[in-house]
Amino acid sequence: MKLLIKNGRVVDPVQGIDDTLDLLVEDGRIARMGERLAEKGAEVLDCVGLVVCPGFIDMHVHLREPGYEYKETILTGTRAAVAGGFTAVACMPNTDPPCDNEAVVRFILKKAQEAGYARVLPVGCVTKGRRGAELAELGSMAASGAVAFSDDGSCVFNPILMRRALEYSRGLQRPILQHAEDPALFSNGQVHEGLVSTRLGLKGIPSACESSVAGRDIELAALTGGGLHLCHLSTAASMDHIRRAKAAGLAVTCEATPHHLLLTEEAVGAYDTRMKVNPPLRTEADRRALLAAVVDGTVDCIATDHAPHHPDEKEIEFGLAAFGMVGLETAVPAMLDLLVKSKLVPMSRFVELFAANPARILGLPSGTLKKDAEADITILSLKHSTAVAPDKFHTMGRNTPFQGRRFAGRVERTLVAGHTCYAAGKAPEPRPR
Ligand SMILES: [Zn+2]
Repeated sequence: MKLLIKNGRVVDPVQGIDDTLDLLVEDGRIARMGERLAEKGAEVLDCVGLVVCPGFIDMHVHLREPGYEYKETILTGTRAAVAGGFTAVACMPNTDPPCDNEAVVRFILKKAQEAGYARVLPVGCVTKGRRGAELAELGSMAASGAVAFSDDGSCVFNPILMRRALEYSRGLQRPILQHAEDPALFSNGQVHEGLVSTRLGLKGIPSACESSVAGRDIELAALTGGGLHLCHLSTAASMDHIRRAKAAGLAVTCEATPHHLLLTEEAVGAYDTRMKVNPPLRTEADRRALLAAVVDGTVDCIATDHAPHHPDEKEIEFGLAAFGMVGLETAVPAMLDLLVKSKLVPMSRFVELFAANPARILGLPSGTLKKDAEADITILSLKHSTAVAPDKFHTMGRNTPFQGRRFAGRVERTLVAGHTCYAAGKAPEPRPR
């Protein structure tokens, strides 16, 4: 099967390309890139006025299966992924059973294959049962396809375990994705500790809950030479730690979420549980620090922390409501609006944040449109806009903080292995098998 993608603005920062070019896809791989390509028998896709990018990768997603299929399944989550412009998602291991052994890794890969939408990159637990007591079988999980390790939802707080995990990560060439949180400072916190927590009478989560662990882990990364990636960072103090670590030449990486870049603690308003998330929405000063760090390269990638919940877990008293927001179907337009429309970052940096850098961090060959790469492609329109309508979501989660908002920019098409899994205005379609 041949597909000729013509007249698009091809943006591939790995190759230093941002130009109007044609792209020939053959048998699911990139066969050629050039000007005015012609190919007999190829299906032609005219992309005039559109931006053609390497497939976007969301390295922080909760697909909820196995165990919480009433929130989301691998099928619904990967449909939502392609509808949101993602060709691959890394799924966190806080399932039931947790993904702490090779059998669960294999189960996830099999389910993803059967679903046929976005590729799924399983993340294995750092510790057995995510209990933080002893290391899980990292080697066998890596051998069966785990791309990274995390106890996400919980922090690997024991410094001896974190040190060992980082040592293993070095040997296995798989990063540790740390949910940085001091459990004692977190206590039973509900929102950011500050004016809003005081006004609402809710227990606060101080910034130091995150940044103190981020600082410690950077020291452990320096000690071990391990691969440390800090998840969903939310504070100005954490950004200072990362900036210093990078200046010192450490291979530490981090992600920021669209909700921390667009919203502050004020969004909680009068106990709006859709705004309850962990780490919590912070202050305007934190949000600005995060945004500056995205612009200057301190933040490596945007990840959604897509966390679907059943309405019964959100439409209840604030203190009892679940933490988390969905993000797969809003992240790309929300960030096109915030970062590209405003000209805060050039398109090439945008593609780094969504494709090249997640691929590099996870050690994947994707994230580029180089010859022979798998033809995972995300095509964007900067002329259309996206209205956020949760009732039209493909995810089972309706818990978006952006209901009713309109963002500049739209996902036009998502191709996995050269097959269109999503085209704007149409239902997602699986790859043929
Ligand atoms: Zn987390």
